[in-house]
Amino acid sequence: MSSLTVRAAAKINLRLGVGPVREDGYHPLITVYQAVGVYDDVTVTASPTWDVAVEPVGAVDVSAVPLDETNIAVRAGRLLVTHHGIDAAASIWVAKGIPVAGGMAGGSADAAATLVALDRLWELHTPDDELLSLAAQLGSDVPFALLGGTALGTGRGELVEPVPDAGGWWWVAVPSATGLSTAAVYQEHDRLGLGDRQLVPQGLLDALAAGSVEELGATLANDLERPALSLRPDLAAPHDAGLAAGAVAMLLSGSGPTWLALCRDHEHAHWVREGLVDAGFADAVAAPGPVAGAHVVEYA
Ligand code: ATP
Repeated sequence: MSSLTVRAAAKINLRLGVGPVREDGYHPLITVYQAVGVYDDVTVTASPTWDVAVEPVGAVDVSAVPLDETNIAVRAGRLLVTHHGIDAAASIWVAKGIPVAGGMAGGSADAAATLVALDRLWELHTPDDELLSLAAQLGSDVPFALLGGTALGTGRGELVEPVPDAGGWWWVAVPSATGLSTAAVYQEHDRLGLGDRQLVPQGLLDALAAGSVEELGATLANDLERPALSLRPDLAAPHDAGLAAGAVAMLLSGSGPTWLALCRDHEHAHWVREGLVDAGFADAVAAPGPVAGAHVVEYA
């Protein structure tokens, strides 16, 4: 095998409960992740040296993605090599459908996809618990990108456990032309003095298990919405446009600026998307959830 492609999905946080900052600088989280149908495809090819290229899919602006050793996909590849004590490198090609700095963990998806792709390319047979631990070293959202589906995340988000989900959800993702720095949103969260005791969101978990869209809409919550809107008051416009287009509820994706419109079904998602496009949000895209974690889609 000389090259291999792995697909990894964007994540959204149906609940993002953020506690006060810890001594190590991280915030304790209780979150419910869901993988949704917006994807990056990562192709790896054996090569004498590391290199990475990124190609946009659709309207994604990839200008902020680094093409050097700081790209998280290269960091993932190097970490895998170090872990196994082997001497190898690869050429990494990312077809990016996940908005950059959009709060949908596109970089984390690339890291997870690269770990899986190189593990298979080099036939390393890394056990799942070791892959999850390497993923956690790369970033808080990377273990979930391996897992996919719907999961409860604790710690700083890196401890993931699947939860029952009746499935069949539909969302419309509304990206913003300008990204938002995750670090800046957490800083604003702290400046506003937010963050208290975190509880497992039982109502939300019950809504997921029951498959009730009304209950889900009523229990979605993201503690980063307030700080994100404080930094970017312009984000009120897509929120209001989503509700005007008929969304059951609007939810900020992670640290933003992407918004998610919860819809009743596929047809409703199509209709809400049309409304958002008519309101000027031309890049709005319908996406199902939950979907799979990082998985091989092509061998060559
Ligand atoms: P998170 O919430 O995990 O920070 P995000 O979705 O808001 O994620 P990403 O798209 O993952 O943001 O990227 C955040 C920053 O990481 C980018 O602005 C870019 O500078 C850097 N980066 C490094 N590698 C990648 C990559 N492979 N894809 C995207 N961004 C990358």
